This record gives sequence, structure tokens and C-alpha cells, in this order.
Amino acid sequence: MLKHCCVWSCGLLALIVCSLSNAALHNDILNLAADEEIRVHPSEVRYWVEPEDADISQPQQLPDTGWRALEKTSINVGKSSTPVWFRFEVENKSGHRIQRQLEVRWINLAILDLFVLDETGGTIAMVESGLNTSKSDRSTSNTSWLFTLSLEPGQRQQIYLRAGSRFNIFLPMYIWEQEALDQHQLERYVWYGLAFGVLAAMMLYNLSLYIFTRDNSYLFYTFYAFSVMMYEAGLTGVGDHLIWGNSQWLRLYGFALSIYLSFFAAALYIRNFLELKQYGGWMLHFNTFFVVYWLVSAMVLLLGNDYLVRVNELAALVSCIVALATSISLWVKGNVSARYFTIAWGGLIALTFMAVLMMEGVLAYSMLTENGQLIGFVVEMLLLSFALAERINRERLHREVVQAQALDLQVLMNKEREEKLQAQHAMLQMQVRTNEELENRVNERTQELERTMTNLEIANRELAKLSVTDPLTKVHNRRYFDETLTREIERAIRTQQPLSLLLVDIDHFKQFNDQYGHLVGDDCLRLVANTLKEVACRSTDLVARFGGEEFAIVLPDTDETEAYSVAERVREKIHVLNFIYKGERIPISASLGVVGKVLAMGTDAPHLIEAADKALYEAKHRGRNCSVEASSLAG
Ligand code: GH3
Ligand code: MG
Ligand code: MG
Repeated sequence: MLKHCCVWSCGLLALIVCSLSNAALHNDILNLAADEEIRVHPSEVRYWVEPEDADISQPQQLPDTGWRALEKTSINVGKSSTPVWFRFEVENKSGHRIQRQLEVRWINLAILDLFVLDETGGTIAMVESGLNTSKSDRSTSNTSWLFTLSLEPGQRQQIYLRAGSRFNIFLPMYIWEQEALDQHQLERYVWYGLAFGVLAAMMLYNLSLYIFTRDNSYLFYTFYAFSVMMYEAGLTGVGDHLIWGNSQWLRLYGFALSIYLSFFAAALYIRNFLELKQYGGWMLHFNTFFVVYWLVSAMVLLLGNDYLVRVNELAALVSCIVALATSISLWVKGNVSARYFTIAWGGLIALTFMAVLMMEGVLAYSMLTENGQLIGFVVEMLLLSFALAERINRERLHREVVQAQALDLQVLMNKEREEKLQAQHAMLQMQVRTNEELENRVNERTQELERTMTNLEIANRELAKLSVTDPLTKVHNRRYFDETLTREIERAIRTQQPLSLLLVDIDHFKQFNDQYGHLVGDDCLRLVANTLKEVACRSTDLVARFGGEEFAIVLPDTDETEAYSVAERVREKIHVLNFIYKGERIPISASLGVVGKVLAMGTDAPHLIEAADKALYEAKHRGRNCSVEASSLAG
């Protein structure tokens, strides 16, 4: 890209140089004598620095020795606080009357008076000119100073030019035939139009870039392009001819102002474009100094003085050298912008340097020194437009890469987010499943527990039941009997209701066992127990096995008489029992002891049992198969 841009630019530069050289060659000041009909030679041009308050008579009367020959081929005598007189002779070598145009191409002369004298010293013509004279006083306006010379056949004329300027007294002169001048000016205007067109296009291009991007380097460059246009207008005379109008201030100071503004804008542009703040050091310090310096110069000038004009020529040279050194140094440090800058500005800075040296009189006036800078500006603008396009392209590519990276990142992030969501979803499902399983297991366990509890309760109930039941006869056991009896005694004492106790003992049971065996004895015990339950069937009645073949019956709220009748019913029922063993009825009988009464305080279970036992003993004693009341026993 950059290579193409350089090739194109160099080609264009060569084309412009060739064309301009071609347009001006025949009429260069070194070629004043090329015209066959009029004779003048640069070596014959002499000058004299005017003392204070001189008039035309003084240089006229000055002896030849008072005039100084030009040291250089171009007419540049440096600075002078007073005007400088130039003298040379023209001669019509033809046999007819000729008319020529004398052109002084350097427009920036405050004073430029022409005196034409004949051989006898008589004044032929006198024209007061220069920027000091009002523009409206002149009949025609042009980009350079033009004077008409008319010579009779063979006539010699003395030409005196009086020139004054704040800048160098610098007089590039040409003598033209009218036709050649017209042709030459046409060509120059075309080239100026082209060059100014490029500058204006670049200015507007950068302005539009600034409006859209708000990047300050484009604004500084717009400002720079504008001040360069002003500078070139001042340098070429286009400004005085077309732009400054009738403003005397602009005519006298516009050129200087444009120089200061150009350097000021260039310094600002370099500061921004090369990002000098990042690098600091001598480059930044120099740049800061020049930004301030050129701004102050412009302001001093605007206030109406151009005190700094002499220092500024040196400052301009130093600015060029420092700018070039800065850009090369940054290029070496790897600043990409500095590479473009050095290529685009290197030639221009060199040509500017040459232009300054030419105006200082160090370099001779030539095509290159006169127009080189303008060509440099045009090429620089073109190169920078390539560089700008390249920069825009580079930034676009960079943006595309960044966008692509951002997109990749987005895709990656989306993928990761999706994976995370999936993982979360899976985890959630797993949690739901686990919860379900857990719930099921808890339910199962709860049901199991409930079942176990129920079983336990049943078992407990069974156990409780078993703990109070006699395993053989299924009536209550002795332990239950003892508890119940104690409880019933307490209740009977409290309520003062009678309580009865029956003790039942099977008669000759030892003998029974011996005769039929223990198992049959057991059957007999079961049968007797059932019989007891059948008789003592009130809900409050209690039948229990007292021990061995003895049973006890507790009858709450029952007095002894009632208890006795219960005892008798029991005895009779046992007695008539049909206990069949091996087809034969075995008679069974039992003896009963009965005790029943309202209990006195302090009565306990052993007391009541003893009373019943005594009655039982009495029943046995009376021959068995009978019931005896305790109250019937004496003592
Ligand atoms: P008495 O008429 O004086 O009461 O005579 P008896 O033989 O019944 O009296 P004793 O107290 O001497 O005998 C009781 C017998 O009861 C002794 C024992 O073998 C028997 N016996 C005690 N408990 C059981 C039992 O659970 N099953 C069987 N088959 N016999 C038992
Ligand atoms: Mg007994
Ligand atoms: Mg017995």
C-alpha cells in the first residue's frame, strides 16, 4: 500500500517538476538576454543601498564606482532598512520599435518604483509601485509586478528600480514579449489552480473527516492546509491578486501571518499525529516551545507589529530541522504514524528549508527553490491522503478483528452459559429425583414405623395381657390378683361398700394327679377355671389362679351372704361337671372359704386372704365339697 503510494507520488512529483520547469525555462532571469531583440545581462545589474531621504537625482549622479555588482546570479541583496536601488541598461537591437514587459515576480515588496531614463538622462517613465501603494491606484492587478518598456530602434534605456521590504530585497526579474507573457501566465494559472485545488480538496476532506470522527488531528490538519493555502497565496502573489482584496493590512502582513500560522498548525498537528505526549523528552519540549512560539509570533503580528520577523527566519529553519529529527527518531522507535509522516513531510521539509535558504539569499533563485515548496505541499497532501486512507483501512481492519474476537467470545460465552444451564437443569432434575426418592423412602419408613408401632402396641397389649394372665387356665394370675385385691380393698374402705373374697380349692387333687396323670389334671384345672368364670360373670368380678389347684374370686360391692351364695353356686356347678376320661366320668369337687364385709380402715390383703383361708381350711375339715363363711367361725 505504502509502496504504491510512494511510486505514484514520485511519478506525480516528477511530472509537476518537468512541466513547471518547461514552462519557465526560457524566461529565467539567467536568460534575460535570450531575447534576440533586446539586450540585457544579469552581470550588468548593479545595486546601491539608499541612505536616508534619497531621490532619483542621487543614484543618477552616482559614479559607476558607487554601484555594487551582484554577488550572485539571482537578485537577492538580503535585508535592508532603507530601500535598495538597482540599475541596468536595455538596448533595442532590432531595426524596429519594440515593447516588452518587465516582470518582478516577488510580490512581497513594500516599495517598488521604476524609473526609465534615456541616454541623456531624461526621464522617459516613472512608476510608483509596491504593496505600500494602494491597490486601487493601479490600473491592473497581477500575481507579480509588471512594467511596460517601449524602445525605439537602437535605443538604450537606463532602468532604475527602487525596492524596499521588511523581508529580503529579492527581485526575480523577467523580460517578456507580451504574447510569451500571456502564454506563460496562462500556464502558471493552470498549475496554481491545480495545486490550490489539491490543497483545498485536502482541507475540505480533512474537515469532513473531523466532522465525522471528531479526531483532533484532522482538525489540526484542516487548519494546517488552510494556513498553507494562505502561505502559498502570499508567496505566489495569488493572494494579492485575488484574495487579500483592498485590505492594506493583509497585503502587507497576510504573508507573514500565514507563515506563522502554518508553523503553528504544523506543530500542533505533529504533536497530535505523532502522539508526542506519550514519548515526552526533548521532542515534546521542542514541540511545546514551537507551538507557543509561533502562536505568540502570530499574535504579536495581529497586534500590528512584526518585531519577530528576523528571529522567525531562524526559528523557521530550526522548526524544520527539529520536525524532521522528531519524525525520524519516532520512526526508529517504531511509531507507524512517524513512518508516513517522515515520507510525506521529509521532502516538504527539505524543500521548505531550501525555500527559506533561497529567501535568505544562501541558495540561488531557481525553478526548484521558487516552486519546489508548492510542489512539496501538493505531494505531501497526496501522500497524507494515502496515509489517511491507509490509516482508516488499518483501523477498519483492526475493528473487524476486534469485532470478530468479540463475536467469538460471545459465542464461547453463550456456549458456556448453555452448558451451565444444562448442568443446572440436570442438577435440578437430579435434586427433584433425589427429593422424590427421599420422600418415598421417608413414606416407606413412616409406614414401616407405623406398622412396627402398631405391632409393638399389639405386642405390648399382648404382653400386658400375658403378664396378668395365667398361661394354663387363661384366668388372671396371682400378681394381677394381688394388685386388684389391694386396689379393691382401698376402694371398699373409701366407699364403705362390702367386699368379698372366695378361695376355691379342688379336693384330693394330689390323688387325682396320681391317678390320671398331670396332663389330665391340667385339663381339670382349665375346666374348673372356666366354670368359675361362668359363675362370677359380673364385669367387676375377678377370677384368678391363686396357686396350684387353688383359685380366688374377688366380688366388689358384695356382702358375705351374697358371696356365700356365689360360692355355693360354684361348688354345685363343679360338682356336677361332666369330666369324662377314657369314657368314664370322673367326679370333681371343691371346697370354698368365703369372707365378705365392710372393711375397717387399715384392713389389708393378707388379712382378708387369711380370713378366707381359715374358712377354706374349715371347709376341708368339715369333709370337703362345701362352703364355709369366715363370719361363722368362732374367734
Ligand atoms: P385336699 O383335699 O386336702 O386338698 O387334698 P389334696 O390332695 O388336694 O391336697 P394337696 O395340697 O396335698 O395336693 C395338691 C396337689 O395338687 C398336689 C399337686 O400335685 C397338685 N397340683 C398342684 N398344681 C398342679 C397343676 O398345675 N397341675 C396338676 N395336674 N396338678 C397340680
Ligand atoms: Mg390345696
Ligand atoms: Mg386340694
